[in-house]
Amino acid sequence: MAYRGKNAVVTGGAGGIGLQVARQLLSNGAAKVAIIDLQDNLEEFVKLRAAHPTQSVMIIKMDVANRKGIEATYEEIVKTFGSIDIVVNVAGIFNDKDVQRTLLVNLGGIMNSTLSALQYMNKENGGNGGLIVNMSSVVGLDPMFIIPVYGATKAGIINFTRCLGNDQFYQRSGIKFVTVCPGATMTDMFTNFTEKIIFPETSDETYKILDRLNKQSATDVARCILSVLDKEKNGAVYVIEGKRVFPLELKQQWTGKEHA
Ligand code: NAD
Ligand code: MG
Repeated sequence: MAYRGKNAVVTGGAGGIGLQVARQLLSNGAAKVAIIDLQDNLEEFVKLRAAHPTQSVMIIKMDVANRKGIEATYEEIVKTFGSIDIVVNVAGIFNDKDVQRTLLVNLGGIMNSTLSALQYMNKENGGNGGLIVNMSSVVGLDPMFIIPVYGATKAGIINFTRCLGNDQFYQRSGIKFVTVCPGATMTDMFTNFTEKIIFPETSDETYKILDRLNKQSATDVARCILSVLDKEKNGAVYVIEGKRVFPLELKQQWTGKEHA
């Protein structure tokens, strides 16, 4: 999908990977970009607008865990933009000590934003169709014992997005769904990490594990996400690691046939 002239929504766009995605969408010619985030980042938003004076940048302060709030947010975006072509759901947190909040933000937030957006994007409702990209993680694929709660929400995102990335649904809706799974990335996400893990006794070991990991930049991850938008492969799951992006080979496990 070319981004030129398209209208996009980015959740979690006030910082980290999301901000880089919003920035790159604008520099690649997106017409209008809406950023949904709990937090402000006035300095960066002023810069974004100054760098793209002929494009629209809409900032909405909203919690993705708030279903009614997110529904109202999409209504507002569509009223202002006219339509939505691209959604990149990036908002997420790490805090395994707060199970409820992690579920509501990481998994609930992706569901709230995706399900609200698709109503407006759906061709059956007069939308343009388009592409929704959901942010998982490599730890949603490969279990990492120190972060089971976060990992489970990221695994859930993959299944949710693959369910929707179904060609029969695409024929009706015109919407494609893709999951991205970056490896460790340099952002604020893991600040005070050892205070947010559920087994503090493993924190020495955790430090060692984290230290060994190669960490990529948010800019590189965003570049890979834009290349995934270009590929438009419905239902695909991509790993993003060190400037590289590659699709997973996923085969069906269940046949539904009787065994001999
Ligand atoms: P970050 O903390 O820099 O950015 C997350 C953004 O989401 C922030 O701007 C934050 O304010 C926003 N946000 C958090 N909760 C929100 C809510 N309830 N409603 C709206 N906005 C909310 O972290 P990041 O590393 O850029 O993370 C972005 C996404 O990438 C997350 O989903 C994360 O799980 C995922 N991810 C991160 C890494 C990594 O190593 N950093 C690796 C793989 C996947
Ligand atoms: Mg971010």
